[in-house]
This record gives sequence, structure tokens and C-alpha cells, in this order.
Amino acid sequence: MRFPEIESPAQNISTYPSLELRAPRIAIVGAGFVGSTTAFALMMSGMPAEIVLVDRDSRRAEGHVNDLRDAEAFSHATQILVGDFSDCCSADVTIITAGVSQSGQKSRMEGLRETGAILHGLVNDVCLQNPPGILLIASNPVDVLTFAAWKWSGLPASRVIGSGTSLDTSRFRRRLAEHYEIASANVHAYVIGEHGDSQIPVLSSARVAGLSLAEFSQELSLPNEESSLARIASKTRTAGGDIIEAKGATYYGIAAALVRIIRAILRDERAILTVSSRVAESMELGEVSLSLPSIVDRHGIARVLPVALNRSERRALEASAEVVRRHIASLSQTIPI
Ligand code: NAD
Repeated sequence: MRFPEIESPAQNISTYPSLELRAPRIAIVGAGFVGSTTAFALMMSGMPAEIVLVDRDSRRAEGHVNDLRDAEAFSHATQILVGDFSDCCSADVTIITAGVSQSGQKSRMEGLRETGAILHGLVNDVCLQNPPGILLIASNPVDVLTFAAWKWSGLPASRVIGSGTSLDTSRFRRRLAEHYEIASANVHAYVIGEHGDSQIPVLSSARVAGLSLAEFSQELSLPNEESSLARIASKTRTAGGDIIEAKGATYYGIAAALVRIIRAILRDERAILTVSSRVAESMELGEVSLSLPSIVDRHGIARVLPVALNRSERRALEASAEVVRRHIASLSQTIPI
């Protein structure tokens, strides 16, 4: 039997689609707690068509890939593969989660040199081929590594993003929401600065329903507000350490934060997220990467926004920048930045 030929409506119009279909592809370097949980969360989101896991322990990566594939029939048809650094060249986003686990005795800074060397190798292998995608760094110390990756790669600062304080901001908003007994989606508050002990949960310009926290508290007749809010800020700062003490590592929160950032990128959302990137000179914080509210779209960071700060918050931001700058200098002693 012969099928009739399908004619194009006009002789000179092609029947082939004119737009090349591109399936979103995410590469994850480091298939440990953070990398594998992020792969799972991404798969459940249904956003990427392909997820490639890269780890120096290929057996571990293989194990995660097979485990994740077992979830396919219950979730989304996502291609999940074990790959190598060359797969990062064609990825829309390469997530870096390789590094030193938090479950050991090493602090964020003690793992700096080891993770710095991993990242330097990756940047040499991948970025010198001028990949078109975005580098999204989660490995700690994330601000130092974001700055170093930007310098080493030669990529525009808009395409080298650190997860920064996106996770801390979600912790802060959740705690404020619990305090006021409202939904965290309705709390507009940011943690800025270093993803670390010097971070600044900004209370002065936080808003709920268009009201400052002082006004909202007055509305609810909450007593002794200053000390409650200071406790929330302090609990936000220590939240990661508390989880690590209890179970050795944190990965659900950061995986969700990474998926949120990727959603903003793949869907060109122009979402405002506290991610880490090179800070502009006009901020007068020196040559450093840290988190400020930033507009994130298909091209990465479209714009870094200023935050209204009171005098002590501004001083704390300067001190936080100084902490990151010191660590950048210390990494530079082993690998020039
Ligand atoms: P993990 O030890 O479970 O995983 C790290 C993985 O990296 C391992 O599988 C290891 O084999 C792999 N790896 C190491 N060197 C590599 C290389 N050269 N190439 C490829 N893979 C390599 O650690 P984890 O708990 O998943 O944490 C990973 C990183 O994420 C750490 O730096 C941690 O501090 C950081 N982290 C960041 C946040 C955040 O908010 N930014 C939150 C949690 C964890």
C-alpha cells in the first residue's frame, strides 16, 4: 500500500519545522548527597529532558543513574546518563556539587583547597571550549568558588552563578512565616552576603503584606519583637550546622534551591533570587562574589539589585565581603585566581 505524499500548502514552504527543538539538558558534576538529590528533584520536576551525572567515582554515578531510572515510570521520561566533563560542554546548565562532604571533620574553609582544585580542573576541561551554558555552583565555600570559577573560566559573570544564600533565604522566610503563622510565600525577606557564618538576614527591609515587620508585629500585637526577630536571624544562620550535626549532611533544601534556580533559567522567569555572583564595583564591596537579590533569566543573572539596609546591616555586609575576600586570597596562594 502506498501512502499519498503530504504536500506542503505552498510549493516553496518547507514541511519541516523551522525551529530546532532543543531538549533542556543538565549536567551535574558530583554525584554525592547533593548531586544525586538534585538529580532526583530535577527528574520529579519534569523540566529537563536529559540529566547527566559526572563523578570521579563512576560506580557511584552508575548506581545513582540506575536507581533514578527506576523512578522513571512513576514520574517523567527523563534520559538519565553517566557522563564525563565533555558532557558539560553541551549542557544548558552545569551544576557543580563535587567537593568535600560536610559530614567529615573539615569546615567549609578547610575543604577550600581540595574543592578549588576540582573546580580548576573542570574549568580547564570544559570552559576553555567556550560552552554556551551556565555554570551553577553549589560546592562550598560557594562564594569563593563562584568568584574563582568566573575568573578561571573567562565566562561572563552573568553565566557563573553560585547557589549562594538562596537556601538561607528560604530558611529565613520559613522561620518568619512560622513566627507570624502565615504562608512563607507571603514573606518577602532576603539573606544576603556570604553563604556562611557572616551572612546577613535582612530584617530592616523585610515585608509582609506590604508592611514592615515592626508594623506587621504591631498588627498582631506580638510582644518583645526585637528579641524574637534576632533569634530568628540567628537560627537561620546556624540552621545548616544544626542539620549537619544531626545527620551528617544537608541536601534536600539545597537540591530544592538548585531546582528553583534552574526553573528560573529554563523558563526565562526573571525571578528574583539571592544567588551569588561577582559584585559590581559600584557596590563598593571590593572584588568579590556574594549574594544579593538578582534577576535570573534564560541568560543567567540579568541584574543584581540593591537592598535597602540600615547602618548595622550595611556594616555587616562589608564585613561579610571582607571574609569572602580573605578566603579568595587564601585560595589564590595555591591556585592563582
Ligand atoms: P559528597 O561527598 O556526598 O559528594 C561529593 C561528590 O563529589 C562525591 O561523589 C565525590 O566522588 C565527587 N567528586 C569529588 N571530586 C570530584 C572530581 N574531581 N570530579 C567529579 N566528582 C568528584 O558531598 P555532598 O554532601 O554532596 O556535598 C557536596 C558539596 O556541596 C560540598 O562542597 C558541600 O559543602 C556543598 N553543599 C553546599 C550547600 C549550599 O547551600 N551551597 C548545601 C549543602 C552542601
